Amino acid sequence: MAARTPVRHPERTVIENCAIATVDADDTEYALGHVVVADEVVESVGPGPAPRGLENVVRRVDGTGHLATPGLVNTHHHFHQWLTRGLAQDSNLFDWLVALYPVWARIDEDMVYAASRASLAMMVRGGVTTAADHHYVFPRGSGDLLGAQIRAARETGVRFTAARGSMDRGESDGGLPPDFAVESTEEALAATERAIEAHHDPSFGSMLHIAVAPCSPFSVSTELMREAAALARRAGVRLHTHGSETVEEEKFCHELFGTGPTEYFESTGWLGEDVWMAHCVHMSDADIAAFARTGTGVAHCPSSNARLGAGIARVPDLLSAGVPVGLGVDGTASNESGELHTELRNALLVSRLGAHREKALTVRQALRLGTYGGARVLGREAEIGSLEPGKLADLVLWRLDGLGHSSIADPVAALVLGAAAPVTLSLVGGRPVVEDGRTVGVDEDAVARGARDAARRLARVAAGEG
Ligand SMILES: [Zn+2]
Repeated sequence: MAARTPVRHPERTVIENCAIATVDADDTEYALGHVVVADEVVESVGPGPAPRGLENVVRRVDGTGHLATPGLVNTHHHFHQWLTRGLAQDSNLFDWLVALYPVWARIDEDMVYAASRASLAMMVRGGVTTAADHHYVFPRGSGDLLGAQIRAARETGVRFTAARGSMDRGESDGGLPPDFAVESTEEALAATERAIEAHHDPSFGSMLHIAVAPCSPFSVSTELMREAAALARRAGVRLHTHGSETVEEEKFCHELFGTGPTEYFESTGWLGEDVWMAHCVHMSDADIAAFARTGTGVAHCPSSNARLGAGIARVPDLLSAGVPVGLGVDGTASNESGELHTELRNALLVSRLGAHREKALTVRQALRLGTYGGARVLGREAEIGSLEPGKLADLVLWRLDGLGHSSIADPVAALVLGAAAPVTLSLVGGRPVVEDGRTVGVDEDAVARGARDAARRLARVAAGEG
């Protein structure tokens, strides 16, 4: 007699009595509604209380005074910079990079692990459920830096896209980084290919993607740009880099390649719907049209752009042209707060300082950038980015009845325009990663101490004190 397979019933979490911004295609919102999570997916979302008679409910959450939104998606970061915050405080991008490259060139696996835990914990407690990191400094003999990041992501419980970066254009080849901070073209490509083979999981609900991510036109050879694009397309993974961040970069591209950054990207195979680029501040109408035509995505980093005086990205123009746009913290050496929920506000405020103010972002557009927009930029809009039945239960419950928000009637306006809202509960695939404002997977105080010690050690090593 064949053994009977037991029927497994999904475990349900029911959240009720909260406002809900689903960020679906119609921007559906409920003033008072419910979300039912079954295992790792959203089973239902709607107005009023949850359906009666649900079986196997393992948890009920009273969301009174809260707003539920999709989890935030961070599309650009450099975790290692957690150890070099507060330096080169008054520099523009190129001077800042020249000051920091020699320090970053001394990082090792333990430091990257400490920095990654801190970067991730900071974002997770502020409602991030999916994070991308762009790591491009791989000093010889520094250990398994990508592995350290992946370990940290696993511990915090966040979905992770590790963009394996690289630099092969040192100073002697006309690049900006010192020669000792770069890899050879072959080393960079081989290590990136190994990372894809070892770690990339393309399945529905994946916790780990790898992307191919040479650093920027001024630190990467044309050969590496071309070969990296070919590698990513062979392997079916996404492509990421920095683009059009500053006027200095534009000048650099014209001097070295005889074109602006966007034309250079197009000539090396770097425009396409499998590509997303950080910044894209200095974009002409033709550049925006090229991104729209090819489906190339943008990681908008308003605080970092302001910190380095880079300029104001034309986000309203990018959106009206149909370009996918998400938000990024960027590295915390140029955005010391390291939080993404405050970038919703900054994206909105900065857009109102730019040209074409009449088209500036609304609070709902800002929320969309930080959720669905980010999911689209990372190629995951079928899985995350909105609260809809069948999608992954990546969800945040923001507390809006406290001092910071209780007198703002519109919950989305409270979240975007108000103080940084406390997170009462955050789920990734139905599993809690934040409970009552504290990260579940890691002890924040221990993470803070670890980051402080690693930062001090890096400063000593970089100063030549061993
Ligand atoms: Zn960056």
